[in-house]
Amino acid sequence: MSLEPNRNLIPPDQTLKSLPNSLEKRIYHFKKATTHFYCPLCSTPRAIANSPRPSVKNHIQMILTTSVLVLLFYPIMEWRALVFFFIIWAGLEGFQRLLFKRDVPCPHCGFDASWYKKDVREAKRRVQEFWKTRAAEKALPTANASSQEKLNN
Ligand SMILES: [Zn+2]
Repeated sequence: MSLEPNRNLIPPDQTLKSLPNSLEKRIYHFKKATTHFYCPLCSTPRAIANSPRPSVKNHIQMILTTSVLVLLFYPIMEWRALVFFFIIWAGLEGFQRLLFKRDVPCPHCGFDASWYKKDVREAKRRVQEFWKTRAAEKALPTANASSQEKLNN
């Protein structure tokens, strides 16, 4: 499963413009976003700062960390200490995927593309839950205002 959209469609240095029918007109612009795309549900421009895969810099960091651990554990484990590379790789990639999946749901409409690929009904339920909580949040200030009016009278 790959959540990465085709990067050739939208250049990463180009910030997306709000469409006339998008839900949010003023969006936060990420400076170092790895992925730019439009939300399929509300057509608001979106950007994700975290990449789901390790970069070249991350690979160099993994190699350096592994070499230090091999030097430390060589007297005990000898060359079997190279297994640390795969442990570090799995941990780093798992952490990066967690960060990426955290950013995938749209903050404006609640649409989650990763859930849509797995289970459409669950994605629909999450969007409905998002709007229910948002409606409850919007209703809360008016409820407080009316209760304050009662206190004043
Ligand atoms: Zn959206």
